Amino acid sequence: MKRHPLERIVSLPREGCYAADGTPIKCPECGHAEFNEKMRDFIDFGVGAGPATEIEYFCGSCGESVAYWAYGSFDPAYLDHKQANT
Ligand SMILES: [Zn+2]
Repeated sequence: MKRHPLERIVSLPREGCYAADGTPIKCPECGHAEFNEKMRDFIDFGVGAGPATEIEYFCGSCGESVAYWAYGSFDPAYLDHKQANT
């Protein structure tokens, strides 16, 4: 039986995985509490480096992408977008 693509969103154990501002506390997939940050975009002053403007967070254990920070805040709907697009 084919599962509805949105079923996984509803079943994700996200309770307690994120702070109110969207900061990841633990991985919704495996519960790991350490993350790797990967800079996705930054202000380029012409030297190929600068302040980060977009950072994606990956679980340090399972490698799952868990959060996306852009221009000063986390995107609270990031997981919904991510799940809906896969
Ligand atoms: Zn994980």
